[in-house]
Formats: sequence, C-alpha cells, structure tokens
Amino acid sequence: MDEQNNFGFRTILYWLLGVVAIGAFIWQVASSPEVSEPSLAQEESLSIQLVEEPVVETSEEIVERPSEANVTLFNNLPTINEDSLALNPNPRTYQAKLPNHNFLTHTVERGETPNIIADQYNITSETLLGGNPWLNQESNALQSGAELVILPVDGVLHEVQPGETLESIAEDYDVTIDEIVAYASNNLEPPFFRLVPETEILIPGATVGQFYWTAPKTVGGGGGSQQWQIVGTGFFTWPITSRCMTQYYWYGHPGIDVGLPEGSSVLAADHGTITYASWASGSYYDYGNLIVINHGNGFETLYAHLSSINVFPGQIVRQGDFIGLTGNTGRSSGPHLHFEIRLNDFRDDPLFYLGGPVQNC
Ligand SMILES: [Zn+2]
Repeated sequence: MDEQNNFGFRTILYWLLGVVAIGAFIWQVASSPEVSEPSLAQEESLSIQLVEEPVVETSEEIVERPSEANVTLFNNLPTINEDSLALNPNPRTYQAKLPNHNFLTHTVERGETPNIIADQYNITSETLLGGNPWLNQESNALQSGAELVILPVDGVLHEVQPGETLESIAEDYDVTIDEIVAYASNNLEPPFFRLVPETEILIPGATVGQFYWTAPKTVGGGGGSQQWQIVGTGFFTWPITSRCMTQYYWYGHPGIDVGLPEGSSVLAADHGTITYASWASGSYYDYGNLIVINHGNGFETLYAHLSSINVFPGQIVRQGDFIGLTGNTGRSSGPHLHFEIRLNDFRDDPLFYLGGPVQNC
C-alpha cells in the first residue's frame, strides 16, 4: 500500500513537473517576442526622438553641408569650392545715397533775358542752360511763366544714364572726378561713389556748348509770333574794316570771306538779339566759334571762325557794337571772317546789302 501510494504520488509529481516544464517552455516561447517589443513608455520616448532628431539634424546640416556640397568633381578630381573666405555681402554697402539737391526756381517774367536772370543769382547765362537742358532744344520756352531751375554754382545738371561712370561723365564735361565728388549734394560717398541712373548730379564748372536762343513768344499773341525786344533797321553796315575778299558769295558758298589779321574787331551789322554765341556744332559744324544775331525783321547775320566771342545769347546789341574778334577756328584755311546774311532762312549775298568797293585778295 505504501509502495502503491508512493508510486501514485510519484506519478502525479512527475506529471505535474512535466506540465510545469511544458508550461514554462510555452511561456518562454510565447513571451520572448514581447521582450523585444517596446513598451508603451519606450514607444513614447521613441516618438519624441523621431520628432526631435530632424531638428537636430537640420541644424547640423547647416553647419556641415557646405563643406560636403563644396566638393565637386572637376575632370574627375574632387575640387573644393571653398568660399568661406569670400566677402559676406552686406546689403548696406550696396545702397548708394541719392543726390539731395535743393534748387531755387525762377519764374520768367516778361522781357527777361538769360543774362538778366543769371545776374540776379550771380551765375552765368550758360549755367541757366546747364540747369535747364530743355532750353537747348526748346529755346522759345524761355517765355513768361516758364519755371527755371537755378543752380547754386556755375555748372551743369546731368541726368545719369545707365552705364555711365564718374570717369566717363568727368571726361564728357572736361572736369575732374574730384570736382564732381566734392559737390556735397551729389551725395557720392566713398568708397564706391556709386551713381544711380535717372538721378541728377551737378557737375560744377561744366558748361554746355550750345545755347540757341530766340526771343520769347508773345503770351496769348498770334500763335508762334515772336516779340523781339529790338528790331533792326534793315540796313547793314560792314562788320569789319577790311574789304579784302578771299571768297565771294556763290551757290557753293552762302556768304563772303573777308581776309584780315586774327584778333580784329567784329561789329554787329545791325541792331538785334544774339541767338547763338558758341562753338558751332550740328548744321554749323564747320563754322568754328560762331555768333548769330537775329534782327527781329526776318534777317539774321552770322559771324564765323572767330577767335573770341564777347556776347552771350539773349543779349541785345546795336548796330556797330563790338561782338567778338576774328580768327581761324573751324574749317578755315587762314584768318578771315565768314559773314552771312539770311532773310527768312534764305542765304542772300551780303555784298548786295553792304555795298561799297571791295578788293580781291
Ligand atoms: Zn566762308
């Protein structure tokens, strides 16, 4: 009975041990994948890492990527495009200051001539043109009510064109760069002295060569009619003392050439208004220093190749007034005066009006 009970007990014990062993094996097999799976807490920390990591990587990329990106292949050799020593563009250095002018304006009153206006402001009549370039093309614009810019110093107001440099502008006006930069209101700052296209800078000391001038139109008067301050007599006197004819009037030469020493006085042939007094250009290109007088009655007289001009555009002269000196400027083969008389733009023979005996030279 003891043995039998003992046998029965052992059988139960072995069976239990077997069940426990099998259970333990099953538990181990079943639970081993669970160990590698993250717990809830682990998942949370992982997801935080996933969010945070790109931020960290991004900041690292900014630092590191240039060195990687700067390596390129050139002829199959790695080439480092190292630009860390290049100037870091500072936008402030590229903003040029704009010119800061503060000009007076003058409203033209009836009867005012360029020199009358210029005298008021202690500038030259050329500076009047220098500040108002449109007067050059539109000389009739100098009429009552016209607004003129008055430059504070003698010079020219220049609108900067794209592509222009201080060097090119200085050369165009025959002044130095220093003179342009020294004019404070131009706001040209070192080190770049940068010009801004479509702004205007003042070129001190510069002049514009041409100044055509005609008398102001009558305000409200018959369209286009000009009211001259002075009207000529219609009779002309010799502008020089010489009668030495080096070339007569003919269809290929619309005036007379009178030979005489350089520096001889030239006189106005009749009363009139100086409409041109400058180095000739454009259609007058070979006239050298030229004076044109409009006599207000359809007549104009021209005095060419001068060595000296002693009148200014807009100036009223009377018959016999000294206006300049003879010379040899422009297309001229020797000292002489080229003299023309034009009636309503038709170039007539001056000897027809001047008369008197002449001599061939
Ligand atoms: Zn001639």
